[in-house]
Amino acid sequence: MAVIKPLKPSHQLQLFRALSARKEFSLEESQYFHSLQKGYEGEKRWQEYLKELPPEIPILYDLTLNINHTTFQIDALIIYQQHITFFEVKNYSGNFTSQDRHWYHSTDKEIKNPSIQIERNETLIRQFFKQHHLHLTFDYLLIFVNSEFMLYDATPRKNLILPPQIPSLIKKLKQISHTPTIHHTKIIQTLLSHQTEQPLFVIPDYTYHDVAKGLFCKKCNQRMERMANRNRMICTSCKTVYSFESALLNLIDEFSILFAPMRITNQVIYEWCNRIISKSTIRRVLGHHYALKGNGRGAYYEKRIKHIKANEEVDQ
Ligand SMILES: [Zn+2]
Repeated sequence: MAVIKPLKPSHQLQLFRALSARKEFSLEESQYFHSLQKGYEGEKRWQEYLKELPPEIPILYDLTLNINHTTFQIDALIIYQQHITFFEVKNYSGNFTSQDRHWYHSTDKEIKNPSIQIERNETLIRQFFKQHHLHLTFDYLLIFVNSEFMLYDATPRKNLILPPQIPSLIKKLKQISHTPTIHHTKIIQTLLSHQTEQPLFVIPDYTYHDVAKGLFCKKCNQRMERMANRNRMICTSCKTVYSFESALLNLIDEFSILFAPMRITNQVIYEWCNRIISKSTIRRVLGHHYALKGNGRGAYYEKRIKHIKANEEVDQ
């Protein structure tokens, strides 16, 4: 499978993750964080299915496009010959009912009808294709990946894929042949070069002063402490061990996500880690992975384009 644009947590999810250990969420924030995590789990599940497709089929995840000042997001798409299939992935669980154009959860609470979201996106995609002179047909599938999802009163609809229908859909997609052409390269380039910022739907309430400083475990969100006589951090809860380097890279990533306009300096990161790791170690890690800009008192660090993955932990 040719993954042209890989699946990554959205900026919004990264922001909430970075904050989750560092502040108490309001009810609205924690519900929203939960829905972001659940949505991402669903996308990862769909990614597992798409791994079964032949390697020559281009796959792109998480596109944010803009047409006529309207932003829209696409969870995944595959390109074959003169056709694109778009996927909207939902990780809903529980019992739902659809009546006319309305969707209800078993609690009788009305939810947004996901088909309407797709219809809106279809219109925007048509406009996007037209504006960029892309001559293609497309279909748009609404995929329910969670096996605990049940929809009652669903009139059969061609683009609605329920969990038991996924294996036969994948089987069908696997049979499609694809020969890459210049036209495909143009489509991919057009899609990638028109990426726009992901919209932030819920902006959590925080300032530098009211979030907890220090190092937190990637796995369980609990505080980490220095291991005696070793250049390692250990999680106080799940006991995962991190090298100073991986703990620091993760810490700096979180800082950049939460406080984007603030410049990264040795002193700033020293305070952000609660003075747990020495300035000389921070300087070494920054020097390895970040580019030094400016000089003297105004010097700061910027992420290099090729940045080593920050979140790998080391074994004992
Ligand atoms: Zn942990």
